[in-house]
Amino acid sequence: MSMTAMEIYALLPQTNCGECGTPTCLAFAMQLANKQATLDSCPDASDEARAALAAAAEPPITLVEIGSGDEQIEIGNETVMFRHEETFHHQCGLCVCIADDAEDAEERIEKAGELWFERIGDMIGAELVAIEDRSGDPDRFAELVSAVVQNDKQSPVLITSDPDLVRSTFEAVEGLAEARPLVHGADAENWSDMADIAAEYDVPLGVSADGLEALAELTPQIKDKGVDQMVLDPGGDDQLQTMEQLTQIRRQALDNNFRPLGYPTIAFARGDDPRKVAVDASTYVSKYAGVVVIEGEEPWQLLPLATLRQNLYTDPRVPPAVEAKLYEVGEPTEDSPVVLTTNFALTYFTVVNEIEASRVPAWVVVVDTEGQSVLTAYSSENLNAEVAAEAIKEVGLEEKVNHRDVIIPGYIAVMSGALEEESGWNVTVGPREATAIPTFMRRLVS
Ligand code: SF4
Repeated sequence: MSMTAMEIYALLPQTNCGECGTPTCLAFAMQLANKQATLDSCPDASDEARAALAAAAEPPITLVEIGSGDEQIEIGNETVMFRHEETFHHQCGLCVCIADDAEDAEERIEKAGELWFERIGDMIGAELVAIEDRSGDPDRFAELVSAVVQNDKQSPVLITSDPDLVRSTFEAVEGLAEARPLVHGADAENWSDMADIAAEYDVPLGVSADGLEALAELTPQIKDKGVDQMVLDPGGDDQLQTMEQLTQIRRQALDNNFRPLGYPTIAFARGDDPRKVAVDASTYVSKYAGVVVIEGEEPWQLLPLATLRQNLYTDPRVPPAVEAKLYEVGEPTEDSPVVLTTNFALTYFTVVNEIEASRVPAWVVVVDTEGQSVLTAYSSENLNAEVAAEAIKEVGLEEKVNHRDVIIPGYIAVMSGALEEESGWNVTVGPREATAIPTFMRRLVS
């Protein structure tokens, strides 16, 4: 939380000596508040002032890095409670949890590695795989952690309260320290040993406690042992209590700059009912987990979660859009159909996916509608006959095809006459819904 000029002024020597390059301490305080100067310019600044300004410059929620290289994710460092206030900056990690006493653990690690989906141009899925200690067998635990590291698709999370097991696993698994796993974790009993290990291997540490007060007592002690990267597990008996705790932690960090709770969080969605697990997980994605751990690796569980997360962590001020230009689907020729659509990313990728499914090569003219979908763009005049005709002309289609036929979305059939007049092209009205595109395209060329 930033300090005001008067708060900074109260910490300065107030001698107006001018050695900082400004005539008065107040003027210098104003420069500091506006981040136009640093305290180093004042030779007489006290240690108290230095510490206070350093603390004020820290983000209210620490940025925590889990994993390394291409698999690394960053969580935390959020600045608002609600997405519409600004944006959410670092999307939560999705983590598949596999117990080490599961007979099919190896196959499930493999399966988790395939949990990636392409959506509006991004690969979305689970970035983390947790191995949970239930067998009490260090060799088995290390074997499965090693499988996650070797799989090279996700970053590992170690779930155990046994510091000896964590240490032996680091010693046994080649490349584990470099993979920078999240170790989860520390509690009221083991925090000292766990903090030593996290500091030694420079890895983030999960911290759980019975309630927020207990958590707030633990984190400063762990920080004093040299661990800055923590992830808080507030527990909770059910979905509602967990969500309340996650919200409280976020509020304490953002509204009160309460440093002991100024870390990202982790929440667990567990249980026998896989549908409830998915629903609970979606709650934690929304409010306000930094890592959501789920028991289950079914695509139908992960895809909705990853989609929800992608929507929440998209900047609400910037519609997701693709470049407005001519795209080729397959290997279109001069005889191939021409399809017109908007540059709203979801519309574009849906249309292109369905054309690909039809196996009919096509040219796709993407009109710049400022990232709006077809109907929204038509309603706001970002898509009309003039705009569409200009787009057809600009992409140089007349040199690429030997016909003058363009297919427009069914929802804007009403502008087909005006577009024919404006462009000189024949307009065919396509389907309203993208799911009908494959049949439409196949009929078109049959
Ligand atoms: S150098 Fe320090 S004491 Fe001197 S005027 Fe600047 S802020 Fe004040």
